[in-house]
Amino acid sequence: MTHRVLIAAELKNLLRPSQLADLDITWLAADQPTPKGDWVAIVPLLSRWVGGTELKHLPNLRIVANVAVGYNNIDLVAAEMRNVLVTNTSGVLTEATADLTWALILATARHLIEGVDLVRRGQWTGWHPEQLLGLELRGRTLGLLGAGRIGQAVGRRALPFGLRILYAARTAKPDFERETGATRVDATRLLAETDIVSLHVPSTPETKGIINGETLARMKPGAILINTSRGDLVREEALAMALELGHLGAAGLDVYTDEPTIHPRLLAAPRTVLLPHIGSATEETRHKMAAIAVANVQAVLSGKPPLTPVYS
Ligand code: NAP
Repeated sequence: MTHRVLIAAELKNLLRPSQLADLDITWLAADQPTPKGDWVAIVPLLSRWVGGTELKHLPNLRIVANVAVGYNNIDLVAAEMRNVLVTNTSGVLTEATADLTWALILATARHLIEGVDLVRRGQWTGWHPEQLLGLELRGRTLGLLGAGRIGQAVGRRALPFGLRILYAARTAKPDFERETGATRVDATRLLAETDIVSLHVPSTPETKGIINGETLARMKPGAILINTSRGDLVREEALAMALELGHLGAAGLDVYTDEPTIHPRLLAAPRTVLLPHIGSATEETRHKMAAIAVANVQAVLSGKPPLTPVYS
């Protein structure tokens, strides 16, 4: 028996025919609206909103298999009310995203982009003892706002760099503390005491706008903000102002509130490294993300429990 499923067209090259057995697929491009019909599963990218209206238009839907670990593009309450399962791709993208977070930490701390620009513009006049002086990492403090899978993976990478780690999370992480010497603090202390603040909480009603004018003002002068989680954790105009005024040392961002649009003031702000949401963008990880999303669909359609549900 074949099942009618909607799958993001952008995943076509990442999936093998064997993974798609028994599926009657409608490939849905990111710029196409979600259709109405009798599909039983949808595999959307994080750019597709799946809310009450979409779920109403898909009355036979049994599963939304999101191709991301974050699932703020899905109305969970509406899905649960309709008995639609929601899955994510937790676990498979942790290491790739932690690596990218470190790319941003190093790029901001050591003025990598300014250096590249100087060379490319042909304006480098030679070694100078005071040129592009950055932040020495050894002995500084890294603050992880959110210490789940990715936050902890970022923290583990901090040890060889000689950083002290503070973290804020809803629950204590004793194994992580033992492994890294990290100390759990509240978010206020974390912001006030760390040289590099890295965001790893999901986007939820409680965390949206957690970095705003007031919390930015509480950060140490010259501190660096890194965000590889979700754009709407940060009020972008307030961040741009903190950079313009020189209060913040730098910002390294992979995600934005209204992707792919970036607030014009943030785009123009000094000392930023702005990436196009490539946290999980490695060959291996993107294949694994597509595979686990489709494996969730296959499991549910064959009457088995989903592999990575976001609620149970
Ligand atoms: P995770 O394992 O669920 O970790 C989330 C962490 O946030 C946990 O420590 C959790 O605390 C904490 N948390 C949640 N709500 C909080 C709140 N209101 N206040 C304080 N802490 C809170 O998630 P993950 O796999 O590390 O992924 C984190 C996020 O990264 C995802 O939600 C996604 O948006 C983003 N992401 C982005 C990319 C990219 O391409 N840039 C790639 C992958 C993921 P507890 O442990 O106590 O529950």
